[in-house]
Amino acid sequence: MLSTRRNNANHQAKHAFDQFTKQMIIQDANCPSDQTARYSPINYDNHRRGVYLNASSDMINRRGEGTTYYHELAHMIDHAATGFNGNLSNTQEFRQALLSDGQRILNAYNNATDEGRHSFVDSLRRNDRTHSFQDLLDATINGAVNVGWSHSRSYWQQPGNLQAEAFAHFFEASMGAKDKLERLAFYFPKAFSSPSSAPVDEEYYAIEDDFAKRFGHKVPREMLPDSISMNQIKKTMKSCLASNKDCLMEILGIPNDETFLY
Ligand SMILES: [Zn+2]
Repeated sequence: MLSTRRNNANHQAKHAFDQFTKQMIIQDANCPSDQTARYSPINYDNHRRGVYLNASSDMINRRGEGTTYYHELAHMIDHAATGFNGNLSNTQEFRQALLSDGQRILNAYNNATDEGRHSFVDSLRRNDRTHSFQDLLDATINGAVNVGWSHSRSYWQQPGNLQAEAFAHFFEASMGAKDKLERLAFYFPKAFSSPSSAPVDEEYYAIEDDFAKRFGHKVPREMLPDSISMNQIKKTMKSCLASNKDCLMEILGIPNDETFLY
């Protein structure tokens, strides 16, 4: 199930997931089911950094199978992407984008008819897969519309928590939950296009820029199998640059077969 979601993930999320896989730690996959799943960013003696969840209840998660797994790992990726020094998502720009998107939704809600408002809330309550949208809506309009799924008001008051939850919800949706991803992208377009909404490997793009300048074309990543990691592509681009030979596809073992579509 989790691998099906991984296979259906969008490219950027999959690469991010693969890039950080080695740093991901599930401390406990058998947490008592009456405990809230969580990512613990701080290393305590008796509570190590990592994800704590109940994997078997996540398999029958009403928000979608594996939702908790990908959500909590996303919190860890957000943290790992800075070398465990704060969260990548924690920028004012991302916060403002989220709040502005939320305000636009609230305005539309306030301008709707009674019937329109009722059917909007009703459609959310009938579909637990809208949980992440509900949570971000709740946070960005300060609970002005009473939906079902949300964190607490005091949780939202902690600096950075809004951005961290948005990052985790976006990432979870990107890992093979197309309906959630489309809903979030539709309602939170500014936040969705914010650079803080997903990890980007800056070094990769710097090398790719050098590569494109030197050889006059970019790396055709859509043609590379997913088993090739970002790190392998980076290493290969570096060796092409060092030898001044444009033989990336040969090194990566990609045949030039004109009869296929990629
Ligand atoms: Zn969370």
